[in-house]
Amino acid sequence: MTDHKLFIYNTLSRTKELFRPVNPGHVGMYVCGPTVYGDAHLGHARPAITFDLVFRYLKHLGYKVRYVRNITDVGHLEHDADEGEDKIAKKAKLEQLEPMEVAQHFTNRFHQAMDKLGCLPPSIEPHATGHIIEQEQLVQQILDAGYAYESNGSIYFDVEKYNKDHKYGILSGRNLEDVINASRELDGVGEKRNQVDFALWKKAQPEHIMRWPSPWGDGFPGWHCECTAMGRKYLGAQFDIHGGGMDLVFPHHECEIAQAVASQGEQMVRYWMHNNMITINGQKMGKSLGNFITLDEFFNGSHEKLEQAYSPMTIRFFILQAHYRSTVDFSNEALQASQKGLERLMEAFAQMERVEPVADGALNEAYAAELTEKCYAALDDDFNSPIMISHLFDACRVINQLADKKQTITPEGLEALKQTFRTFAVDILGLRAEAEGNADREEAFGKAIDMLLELRAKAKAAKDWATSDLIRDELGALGFEIKDTRDGATWKLAK
Ligand code: ZN
Repeated sequence: MTDHKLFIYNTLSRTKELFRPVNPGHVGMYVCGPTVYGDAHLGHARPAITFDLVFRYLKHLGYKVRYVRNITDVGHLEHDADEGEDKIAKKAKLEQLEPMEVAQHFTNRFHQAMDKLGCLPPSIEPHATGHIIEQEQLVQQILDAGYAYESNGSIYFDVEKYNKDHKYGILSGRNLEDVINASRELDGVGEKRNQVDFALWKKAQPEHIMRWPSPWGDGFPGWHCECTAMGRKYLGAQFDIHGGGMDLVFPHHECEIAQAVASQGEQMVRYWMHNNMITINGQKMGKSLGNFITLDEFFNGSHEKLEQAYSPMTIRFFILQAHYRSTVDFSNEALQASQKGLERLMEAFAQMERVEPVADGALNEAYAAELTEKCYAALDDDFNSPIMISHLFDACRVINQLADKKQTITPEGLEALKQTFRTFAVDILGLRAEAEGNADREEAFGKAIDMLLELRAKAKAAKDWATSDLIRDELGALGFEIKDTRDGATWKLAK
């Protein structure tokens, strides 16, 4: 086990805290996953990549990490309040599909996008619809504790009552008066006692297709319930990290804290982590602004705001080049700069294979050890990936000098440097050579060999046996098997 002092910024305490897991050696991490009613976009990429870095780094440090990321397939209503249509049911109605067909389709699409971005799959990916019983149990516990009430077949959380005994708003820093004032503009309270109360269980109207039986009649769970219920089921009544985008702090995570405290008397989560948001050319992303770009559109460059396609690794690197708590602004210029930066890093990585070490090299293992320490120091400071990347860029300059023979390194030093790059660039940042780039390169490589064989055929035709044999022998020495056939020659690369 590691002796690292890892500091994590806790949204709840608003300070960086030394990370101490509930169970030594183990980490439980819950991250709010997508509502699966549309294609994954940048808003999905940032938390996925942020918590992928956290997952990878904690695993690297030797923790046994259980990473739970849910799929929201019911209960997320159109206006994020307790009114409006279920987002998935609405899509299903439009497309004349079963709601679960919509959810499955976009879950598959989400997985494909995450895979392209190099995000490791979570340890458990629970679906809200698969945990209706657990959510009903949570609602019952809150009712039993006296912090919820039934109204016309729906169950609401009694925020005012809760606020008297505990404090509502500790995560977002809002107090109840602010929340009440902010919500006064909206329509009347309807069946709620107070506008700020939120639904734990909603009665299903006759036309509502996603419905389950419950002690309070047919209905469906409120959105906030699923994460509290599933987090507790898979990670226990107390677990380490709960993450998501900053937009989830209020009301979603604030409500989760209230539900946890109301149902079990104490909080469930030790460290609340939130990634900041992404803007596009300085604007909030939104369908009405015409800047809503899906990940696939980034990957194939088909959106009108994009000057070119951007590979998944460019997107990943771009996101990791900012600290997760900073805002990120997407623009073509910024993405092109990231693309160049990533190329520089991967080229240096490849270039190390061509460096010829010398026994009395000026650099040795100490250089790699120092680089490793700096990278760890950056990551231990609340996962500061941009600082870590800047250290790798410094090393790229040294690698270029080594390749140009303007600097020397010992064999052990070179091995250690390669290992440092593998650890930080590949294992922890999750960067990998682009599949598409490789395909292009392989194609060019194949064409070059074909061209050499054509030259050999011409030499043979001109009875220039010396040139013909030279090409065959040299290719053979490089590991190519050349076979002469009636129609010319074929080649393959021997293993
Ligand atoms: Zn959630």
